[in-house]
Amino acid sequence: MLLREINNIYHSELDVIYGKEEVNSFFYLLIEHYFDLERFVLVIQPELVIDKEQETVIFQALSELKLEKPIQHIIGTAYFMDLDFKVNGYVLIPRPETEELVRWILDDHKNTAKALTILDMGTGSGCIPISLDKNLTDAKVFGLDISTDALKVAEENNGLHGANVKFFKADMLSLNTETSVKELDQKFDIIISNPPYVRELEKAEMQNNVIDHEPSLALFVPDEDPLKFYSSVVNFAAEHLNEKGCLYLEINQYLGKETKQLLEKSNFKTIELRKDMFGNDRMIKGIIK
Ligand code: GLN
Repeated sequence: MLLREINNIYHSELDVIYGKEEVNSFFYLLIEHYFDLERFVLVIQPELVIDKEQETVIFQALSELKLEKPIQHIIGTAYFMDLDFKVNGYVLIPRPETEELVRWILDDHKNTAKALTILDMGTGSGCIPISLDKNLTDAKVFGLDISTDALKVAEENNGLHGANVKFFKADMLSLNTETSVKELDQKFDIIISNPPYVRELEKAEMQNNVIDHEPSLALFVPDEDPLKFYSSVVNFAAEHLNEKGCLYLEINQYLGKETKQLLEKSNFKTIELRKDMFGNDRMIKGIIK
């Protein structure tokens, strides 16, 4: 079958769900991933024929897209900070907003002479600590998660990218009782977290592909206690940051003020709230005095 015929089928079946532009980007990503073909191929080789075996793969992807499976789950990777991270249903797919948070940290600390000790709480795929480890020389980087399945993905990414992050299992909500976890018994220069922050009441704003395929454990918080992870992380950070240590958090865009107040109550100074590329309050930094 001609590649351009397959492209037409993609549009006729998927445009109603995703819109033409997104379908184009899915199609180009898939032909690059599976066949190593560039997007211009449709223009420069309009008569390009796809063999039977290749057809099976590309039509399989089409049926998964029809079921609103995330494209990153279909190809098994997500692009973050110039690296391909393995992802599956046990971890959140890395978001561009989170990349902005990582870039903020790198801008602040890239030229620090000191070997930094860093902890990421609720690490998922490990995309945050691994990209920090790759970009900061001599840093000692740790990542924790409650999910053993997520930690497996993080370890795989660590190996894949030749990073040296030390991952370990711990529950962010009961850090005081995790006394046997030796990695928590130290001080850090930087603590980061992108914990669950989507309230149940915000589910209506979300896409099906997120709700149906990404882990609820990593996304949702109860309407009546939306900052429960933040309280725990902020308390821990207030005790476990070195002097002038920094806390960086990705936050719920509607709860910027409330999250800032949490930091103020715990002795953080120079608190800065930042917007993401979409103009939403998305990240916060506090320095402990
Ligand atoms: N930004 C993510 C989303 O909107 C949520 C991430 C999180 O809860 N930490 O799907």
